[in-house]
Amino acid sequence: MNKLPFPFPLEPSQTIRLRARILTALLARDEGFCTVPVSSILPSTLSEMLRLYDELFFAGFLRQAYGDLRVTVSTRLTSAAGKFLYARTRSRRMENAEIRMSGDFLFRLNEGPFLLNGLNVSTAQEAFLVVFEHELCHALETALFGTTGHSKRFLTLANGLFGHTATTHSLPTRRAEAARDGLLVGMSAAFPYQGRMLTGRISYIGKTASVMVPDPRGEYRDRQGRRYTKYRVPLSQLTRI
Ligand SMILES: [Zn+2]
Repeated sequence: MNKLPFPFPLEPSQTIRLRARILTALLARDEGFCTVPVSSILPSTLSEMLRLYDELFFAGFLRQAYGDLRVTVSTRLTSAAGKFLYARTRSRRMENAEIRMSGDFLFRLNEGPFLLNGLNVSTAQEAFLVVFEHELCHALETALFGTTGHSKRFLTLANGLFGHTATTHSLPTRRAEAARDGLLVGMSAAFPYQGRMLTGRISYIGKTASVMVPDPRGEYRDRQGRRYTKYRVPLSQLTRI
């Protein structure tokens, strides 16, 4: 990796020390963040988390690169524990950069340990930071190289900075939990509806699942012209067939 505008790679002990320092600072300022499971997190705690990571790990590089990088928590984000988003203007400048953290993930985390990005993490609060670190690496790689993914380059960054050894989001997201119960997108499943059982194909899994049920008068149509009605079904009511 070429010369980066901040110390790289860090000693593993240095990473652990800095992460612990950030965690302590955030816990000290936000009561809701201290409960198990986490009950709330203040917007100012999110910006403080970004500020501390940027200062301690990146020597302020993210602030220089993005100016305004937002950190938000969304309870509607159920497919992943975190997400990095941005838009490019016509002049190729990045704008509206945002790290969106899943509240659905954070507020349901109970007892650890959790295996996250190859790290063994013991608390929900630390898990949140490790997910954030992964998204920070996406923001960083985008600022440095213009693109981001889960390539070797990404893993080198994530490992050299944070000690991550994997990019698998092996997290208890709703989708992962559904998969553990044997439910996957594309699978046939049955569910009770107004006193009878309906059968269809799962097309989406979030807090609820979307199931496409064959119906001659349905408003959805596939490439073969078959029609379907879409039902939103609580995961607990679905049985795979
Ligand atoms: Zn990722």
